[in-house]
Amino acid sequence: MHLRRLVATGLLLSATLPLVARAQQQPMVLRTVQPNQAGNQSLPYHPVTGPRSPLRKDWVGMRAVSRDIPILVMAGHADSQGIGGSGTSGEAVALYRQPPMYPGISDEHYWNLVVAHAVATLGQQRGLKIQFYKPPVRTIVNADDQGTNWSTGRQFAAAGGYALEIHFDAYGSAGVGSGLIPPLHRPFSRIDESLAQEFGAYPMNFREMLGGPKRGIGLLEIGKLEGNLEASLRDPRTRQRTVQLIAWRIVNAIEAGMGRGSRSPLARNWPPLTPPPDAAGTGVPVRDLQANSAAE
Ligand SMILES: [Zn+2]
Repeated sequence: MHLRRLVATGLLLSATLPLVARAQQQPMVLRTVQPNQAGNQSLPYHPVTGPRSPLRKDWVGMRAVSRDIPILVMAGHADSQGIGGSGTSGEAVALYRQPPMYPGISDEHYWNLVVAHAVATLGQQRGLKIQFYKPPVRTIVNADDQGTNWSTGRQFAAAGGYALEIHFDAYGSAGVGSGLIPPLHRPFSRIDESLAQEFGAYPMNFREMLGGPKRGIGLLEIGKLEGNLEASLRDPRTRQRTVQLIAWRIVNAIEAGMGRGSRSPLARNWPPLTPPPDAAGTGVPVRDLQANSAAE
């Protein structure tokens, strides 16, 4: 009942589909930086995703995980659109008066969805037990209600899986940079460590323990939604390749943390042999999004 009332007041995710379909018709130009030029994680800056978190990493992920650990990937702010905590609008909208990627949702949430879906798709192609979760509606006031990202992720992590929520950080001085805010429900794992090696890290008690990490969900900040990163996502000619590169780095890091990375060196080649469809790609995610919205 509670959900039904919210559905009436909020736009459903399926409403973004016309925009996704339009994006897919755009030509793709391959002019993003190659990851082998960009892969030195000791640098404070990544050419595609920008500055890494300069905050102190006060934790180390040592706990081994199973090579078959189930993984759940979610888009940050999926249930908080139209209320506080809906995610950053990004520099293009806030400072340069560009139209939002889709009206009614923050640009951060839009890109979180695209990246999370691409990660799940590529991970499945690699044989990981990885699934994408999206709440049935976009606005759920209580984060502990059934079906929210955090409720679903908490149960998933408690059952032994690895739950990861994708985010982009705020632009300008409000943002920190890319990095993992690690889950806090049990000792830090090698997946946590591997993601931190690739993207950077936040302190374990960042902002006095955020809601997701407290429930056992890792928050991965891809980068600040500004500058070159935001421009290459927004430009239809570079969008698909940028999303693929980000997804490729995340999946590689997860696989390495699971101890699977060296087993299939071909899997680490860039570009992927079979480009993964993403939310701006084939009809597969479109059907998925429609199916998820059937709860209306
Ligand atoms: Zn966020």
